Amino acid sequence: MANLKLTKVNKIYPNGFQAVKDFELDIPDKEFMVFVGPSGCGKTTTLRMIAGLEDTTTGDIYIGDKLVNDISPKDRNIAMVFQNYALYPHMTVFDNMAFGLKLKKTPKDEIKERIMKAATILGIEMLLDRKPKQLSGGQRQRVALGRAIVRKPEVFLMDEPLSNLDAKLRVQMRTELIKLHNDLETTFIYVTHDQTEAMTMGTRICVINEGAIQQVAEPRTIYNYPVNMFVAGFIGAPQMNFFDGEIVDTPDIKVEGCTMPLNSVLLDRVKKDNLYNKPFKIGIRPEDIRLESGGKGIDGVVEVTELLGSDLNIYFKINGNQYIMKTDSSKIFNFGDKISIVFDPEKIHLFDLETEKSLYY
Ligand code: ATP
Repeated sequence: MANLKLTKVNKIYPNGFQAVKDFELDIPDKEFMVFVGPSGCGKTTTLRMIAGLEDTTTGDIYIGDKLVNDISPKDRNIAMVFQNYALYPHMTVFDNMAFGLKLKKTPKDEIKERIMKAATILGIEMLLDRKPKQLSGGQRQRVALGRAIVRKPEVFLMDEPLSNLDAKLRVQMRTELIKLHNDLETTFIYVTHDQTEAMTMGTRICVINEGAIQQVAEPRTIYNYPVNMFVAGFIGAPQMNFFDGEIVDTPDIKVEGCTMPLNSVLLDRVKKDNLYNKPFKIGIRPEDIRLESGGKGIDGVVEVTELLGSDLNIYFKINGNQYIMKTDSSKIFNFGDKISIVFDPEKIHLFDLETEKSLYY
């Protein structure tokens, strides 16, 4: 069991590219921390520095209370599971799982005991005699996890371990990994570019962009109170809508010629900082837009609808810009239908035009 600490960690590759910028992160023991961000934002580089497969350019990494900067990967007591499972094709599942333990000269009986225990947790007892090519993608993934579990690491590092699986299996493995985390009571760090995986699996999420941490918080906080426009747009599918608008001195917000009330938290902030008559980006999630029948809303025209079982996504246009709202699927809309919309005042986000920071912070 171990907590992790990264202080002022930077990574500049030999070609001068800075992949990680001033990372400051505390990961308590037993946390399921998810690193999420777009391709190339520095997730894998950070994970590889924690594993010891990559040096830090500056900054310190602690596992438990131990500074590990100069400790080799094999002595860091971590296990890494990659997207590419890298099982040895000529070895059985049992031998694949035993390999690392044999290298460490673990007694035979103990190897067997640990493998049987891990195989039971993962439900792969009946596969121990098979070779990797005789396994499905999901089974191979479990073996790769099993190989990590038997080493009893203090920290599990996982880099997009589910991305080779089909959509259904991915959903299934997601819940299995959450259960595994509960069973093992070990610190997990999980890298993904998939915001749904991040939202469903993480006890906390670290959102990264261009090598820098944007926000570290529980999924609910990240979703309801994103710190800036990047996090607001990255987390959530379909993504948050952004409108140009301003705060007027009624005090209300004005957007597309329509005035709408502000909630009390934003109102207090506006009063405190005297933000009247200033333009802002207004963020609203698709599910927080309501249809309005009294003629007081913003007028839009339906472009496309998507039926998703209980929900209906409506893509609509206002003054040439496309937005999206979510409603229940009992309603029917067609291309060209006129709609009128309002925002749920409790769910409005305001972002500074220059800094792109949320007014909730
Ligand atoms: P993905 O989701 O695509 O795997 P990532 O967030 O894991 O992306 P990294 O693999 O950490 O991203 O890469 C971060 C940045 O560093 C990228 O722009 C990448 O091109 C760059 N990079 C990675 N390895 C090197 C290297 N050896 N030399 C120079 N630049 C590198």
